[in-house]
Amino acid sequence: MRNLLSMTMENLEEYFLSIGEKKFKASQVFEWLYKHREYNIDNYSNIKKEIRDRLNEDFNTDFIKIKKKEEGVEVKKYLFELLDGNYIEAVLMEHDYGKSVCVSSEVGCNMGCKFCESGRLKKVRDLETYEMVEQIILIENDIKEKVQSVVIMGIGEPFDNYDNVINFIKIINHAKGLAVGSRHITVSTCGIVPKIEEFSNLPLQVNLALSLHAPNDEIRNKIMPINKVYNISKVIEAIKKYIAKTNRRVTIEYVMLNMVNDSVDNAKELASLLRGMNVYVNLIPYNETNNIDFRRSTRIKEFKDTLLKSGINATVRREFGSGISAACGQLRSKEV
Ligand code: SAH
Repeated sequence: MRNLLSMTMENLEEYFLSIGEKKFKASQVFEWLYKHREYNIDNYSNIKKEIRDRLNEDFNTDFIKIKKKEEGVEVKKYLFELLDGNYIEAVLMEHDYGKSVCVSSEVGCNMGCKFCESGRLKKVRDLETYEMVEQIILIENDIKEKVQSVVIMGIGEPFDNYDNVINFIKIINHAKGLAVGSRHITVSTCGIVPKIEEFSNLPLQVNLALSLHAPNDEIRNKIMPINKVYNISKVIEAIKKYIAKTNRRVTIEYVMLNMVNDSVDNAKELASLLRGMNVYVNLIPYNETNNIDFRRSTRIKEFKDTLLKSGINATVRREFGSGISAACGQLRSKEV
């Protein structure tokens, strides 16, 4: 039995056609789920009993649960318990332009980035689409407000759970779904090249961010095992093709690790790597965790200024909640 909140509008239309019903029923179901927030199928009063019974046979509307909440200044961190007892987390951030949520895409992660808490714990399984959709619904219910933007930058590698993530994007982006504008949705990947290519063919105006974190293979090999499969030249080539095809600017994420990737020379090398590309660099102050030895760079400003002087757009990511287990996967790792 599938969860009804895993179904895109197209999936539901196909479903209704397959049981000999009109496809506009899909729209009615979406309105119950996402407008009225009604999860008891028996209450779908504009759908006749016979079809409601059929829906009840084929689908459930089970929900994950908020297990714990930590609150900081302009930030809330949620630990969710999934139906099988696994834990994931999401973060709500308050920007001037509205509320933004960072969701998880997997239970754990197999990418094994050396500085990352989620990678330390390995992937248990992919998240189902409904488990991503429900992170947002539960947060909206909790704050009694709509979420403006969504970043898929929590636990997990979204392109290692591609189909479920794309369906999630379709549901939250749909006008009758959670209606989050496509330009307000960002997917962040460590650089899985074939999926970047697939993503560029998607007819959705969603933003892409690449976790590059190093200006050359020597450094990237040391901190990101994925680089041994798709090295920097392959990943940059894929991003160039993506930009050519979609005409969209890509965010390059660069986590600032003390004495690892943060020298002025590293900044110059990064600038020449990115020269001429429609990108901007988001420098991430490293969130230190007890379990891992990396330290936050003390040269972030210098690094940024070097990029700017070389004509590369760069910003330093605003920090949210360093007081509250903010590093990716930290809240979950206390539980497992
Ligand atoms: N797997 C995806 C998305 C999840 S991680 C990706 O790699 O992009 C989101 C971002 O946070 C990535 O850029 C990741 O490298 C970075 N990150 C991981 N641990 C961090 C930490 N402790 N402090 C700061 N950034 C971290």
